[in-house]
Amino acid sequence: MNQASEPALLGGATSVIQTLKAAGHLALLAGGCVRDSLLGKTAKDYDVATSARPEEVIRLFPGALTVGAHFGVVIVRQGGHHFEVATFRTDGSYSDGRRPDTVTFATAEEDAQRRDFTVNGLFLDPLTGEIIDYVGGRADLEARVLRAIGDAHQRFAEDHLRLLRAVRFATVLGFEVEPQTWKAIREMAPRIQAVSAERIRDELTKIFLHPNRLRGFDLLVESGLMEAVLPEILALQGCEQPAQFHPEGDVFIHTRLMLSLLPDEVSLPLVLSVLFHDISKPATQTVDETGRIRFNGHDKLGALVTEEILRRLKFSNQVIAPTVEAVACHMIFKDVPKMRTAKLKRFMARPTFEDEMQLHRVDCLGSKGDLSNFDYVRRKQQEFAAEPLIPPSLVSGRDLIQLGWHAGPALGRILTAIQNLQLEGSLSNREDALSWLKVNAPVPDQFDAAD
Ligand code: ATP
Ligand code: MG
Repeated sequence: MNQASEPALLGGATSVIQTLKAAGHLALLAGGCVRDSLLGKTAKDYDVATSARPEEVIRLFPGALTVGAHFGVVIVRQGGHHFEVATFRTDGSYSDGRRPDTVTFATAEEDAQRRDFTVNGLFLDPLTGEIIDYVGGRADLEARVLRAIGDAHQRFAEDHLRLLRAVRFATVLGFEVEPQTWKAIREMAPRIQAVSAERIRDELTKIFLHPNRLRGFDLLVESGLMEAVLPEILALQGCEQPAQFHPEGDVFIHTRLMLSLLPDEVSLPLVLSVLFHDISKPATQTVDETGRIRFNGHDKLGALVTEEILRRLKFSNQVIAPTVEAVACHMIFKDVPKMRTAKLKRFMARPTFEDEMQLHRVDCLGSKGDLSNFDYVRRKQQEFAAEPLIPPSLVSGRDLIQLGWHAGPALGRILTAIQNLQLEGSLSNREDALSWLKVNAPVPDQFDAAD
């Protein structure tokens, strides 16, 4: 569903409920939207739960999509929006640790009982404002507690994704996890490995994109879920670093500190690059005779390892490519003051650069706090602001071919040399570039040109 205004969504859901009620059925808002509106937050979508059977819902809303009707869910279009209308149901046995084998249509109370957490088990009648609470969700919302409905062990055994959903809700809602629920999560954490990588990826994404991501990180570690889904992060614990550069402590402490220093809103590649930028420090650590600790090549190996982890978790190429680039390049920032202008401009012109600056910034602030290279780049950005970092070329390959060059690597090198001079400010127009060519790169004979 596209971004729709909250009143329009609520209005649409309310009119769906009105139609169902007018036909003699029970119909209520259910789950996340009730929780979010009681918290005064904007709900993402409004789900309807009803006593009407799927065939009856389809009859009342011609054009409704029957996708998922066997689970009792019908998608209804109303006022340009889509709403999930689910028949009250109870889940049968679970044999795969994720989805019920069967569902049986049931009462509203039974439908509340099959939901995961008490705060997700509330119903609201939008026509009367009445809250229907079979699971103690209201009290838990007020106390800001995340509690499994019923026996926590059993609920996590049925559907292992709930383990990670618990950490996600505790993170985004800022709730405490009720002790029995927490105990069950800690005991059952390894079972998350039976859940599909895509579902794990989606939950991790919600946790790390949320401003409360540091708490999410800690909950993942303390629950044992980090060990189960991202064991590489745990391997950062106890990986000692030279104190002169890293007074904060080991690589794990450094990474965690960086997470806490990010702005609230971040891109997914940025937060993932923070998590993984030093992922290969444990594997590359060396200590010489003087006791000096080094991590040669941790950036390049880290880029490979980051790609492997993100592929394992089924992240898209659109997320993987910029994350890997940021990890691969994060050590280059120490060289920026020594870079020739052409090289610096090319480094800065890459599409991932602004996120890489943010990675570098928290890398510095999460260690010695020396922002001199960051500030240097910001000054250079101002200095270069008047024109594009990479302006249109002064001469083209076609120009060179017209001058008698053959296509090939030598021609590419000449074009790069001219672009270097242009980026350095030594050549600024086509005429000068052509005269420079005449003097410095006369057309080679056929034999040389074919290299
Ligand atoms: P959000 O959409 O903000 O992530 P939500 O609470 O709406 O949160 P959804 O995944 O959209 O979560 O699910 C809607 C409702 O369905 C939940 O509030 C919960 O009542 C129920 N639910 C969803 N997934 C599960 C699950 N794995 N086990 C039990 N109940 C679930
Ligand atoms: Mg939802």
